Amino acid sequence: MKKKALITGVAGQDGAYLSKFLLAKGYEVLGLARDLTAVNFENLDFLNVREKITFVNGDMADEESLRKIIAEHQPDEVYNLAAQSFVGASWEQAKLTTEVNSLGVLYLLTAIKDFSPKTKFYQASTSEMFGDSHTEGLQTEETPFHPKSPYAISKLYAYWMTVNFRESYGMFCANGILFNHESPIRGLRFVTRKISDGVARIKLGLAEEIRLGNLDSKRDWGFAGDYVKAMWLMLQQEKPDNYILSTGVTHSIRDFLNVAFEHVGINDWERYVKIDPQFNRPVELYALHGKNDKAKKVLGWESEVGFEELVKMMVDADVERLSKNK
Ligand code: NDP
Ligand code: GDP
Repeated sequence: MKKKALITGVAGQDGAYLSKFLLAKGYEVLGLARDLTAVNFENLDFLNVREKITFVNGDMADEESLRKIIAEHQPDEVYNLAAQSFVGASWEQAKLTTEVNSLGVLYLLTAIKDFSPKTKFYQASTSEMFGDSHTEGLQTEETPFHPKSPYAISKLYAYWMTVNFRESYGMFCANGILFNHESPIRGLRFVTRKISDGVARIKLGLAEEIRLGNLDSKRDWGFAGDYVKAMWLMLQQEKPDNYILSTGVTHSIRDFLNVAFEHVGINDWERYVKIDPQFNRPVELYALHGKNDKAKKVLGWESEVGFEELVKMMVDADVERLSKNK
């Protein structure tokens, strides 16, 4: 019998990479999407997996749709990747962010408890829950949380609800606390993809500048394709737990700009980057830096793609994509 996995947020960055990974493992993949007539298939097509996924109609903000899906399909594993995932938008859309990222998780967990309690559950938690790391050093699973955006707060609720269903009902509920992970199909609003797309446009003569906010922030950036493997590994353990996934190396946005521009032969990137205060946040999170010892030791997982390789992969993919459309 094929194992059945339900992925919420299937058409997002991680949903696409996880689908590819699980399909290669022989899983039947059910993908939850909000409007089956209007799914943006770009990411799934990029990885060539669209045709192999069975789509089911549901919305994280609509409890009834989630209850129906869980009752009908009783999947072996649920990967909850759906979210309003952009920190920058979460101040203006705090209520929506909370409804989808917090209450949606409560609905999903309750549906699993009521209709399919043996289902294993993965929650896409985030390093944003920690807040800044520049004073405390590397963050671990034991670092106290100090969320600094409505997004991070919404994810903290979901993190604890996932732990609470584990403790209250003995359900298999795992949290992956993921540091930023990127790829050629990262959303265009995120700084890495905004830069790789912008650099490709400048290189091809399609744009003259990139407008950015704070260039001094640091992030621990890994490759999404590496991280989805560990999501699966978390659900194959004997006991559910919380795990950090990170590279253990942190870089600034300036570092990202350096590598990206240099890769296309431009050494004076300052000429092309304009600082625009509209991209500053009400509260900035200056540095994230994660210690991944537990994932290494228990899951046997390691982040493989390094920083420079990741930046170049993203720039190359955008150059190729834009060259085709030129
Ligand atoms: P994306 O933004 O690429 O994908 C999120 C997906 O969620 C989209 O497919 C979106 O669908 C879907 N979605 C949004 N709202 C709803 C809703 N109400 N009902 C159903 N689906 C909905 O995110 P990533 O793939 O980058 O991230 C995956 C998860 O991991 C997210 O939960 C994110 O917060 C978390 N995370 C990501 C990190 C990263 O660096 N990428 C780091 C740590 C955590 P639609 O196309 O319809 O909008
Ligand atoms: P986040 O870590 O989930 O918020 O990922 P982002 O890629 O959105 O942002 C990473 C960092 O880049 C944050 O510190 C932002 O303030 C900073 N940043 C600077 N300029 C920009 C910009 O133009 N867009 C975005 N998204 N972030 C920017």
